[in-house]
Amino acid sequence: MIGNQTNRDVAMRKTLVAAVITLFGVLNAHGGEPPVRFDQAKIAIYPPQQYDHTYSGKLEIIYTKTAEEMARHCPPNSHGQRLGCARRNYPSEGHCFIVIAPAAELEAIGYSEPTIVRHENAHCNGWPADHPGLRSLKGAETADEYYARQYRWKTFTLQATKRDG
Ligand SMILES: [Zn+2]
Repeated sequence: MIGNQTNRDVAMRKTLVAAVITLFGVLNAHGGEPPVRFDQAKIAIYPPQQYDHTYSGKLEIIYTKTAEEMARHCPPNSHGQRLGCARRNYPSEGHCFIVIAPAAELEAIGYSEPTIVRHENAHCNGWPADHPGLRSLKGAETADEYYARQYRWKTFTLQATKRDG
């Protein structure tokens, strides 16, 4: 009875998919971290290969918890965003000091934490601040995807401002 077997498999698979979707919904309803929905490989955030390697000096990474903490360490970029920054040869020669934005804010703009660490690590390796050779890893995001990320970030920071003010 191969036919019946196949039908049962399909039914079981449908049940499994429904269960996974339900679980996902429950996690989100209870404040679970939503996953980064944007394909990291398509975002033009990565350094050219010559700077895209492990830093050989002494590296310190601070993972901030709040926007205020972030503002103490990092200047904003041209969009007014503070996602991460790196200070070469700080606090002394052969050291690098990286500060990373709160994970929730990074996720709001579609970045994973390792993506931003990789970007900042390249500055430790001497990648200039104006980002020559900035690249994606595979393919490119569409203009819609880019603007969707910027929009999500704006919504996130607006809500954060409302919460704090
Ligand atoms: Zn940079």
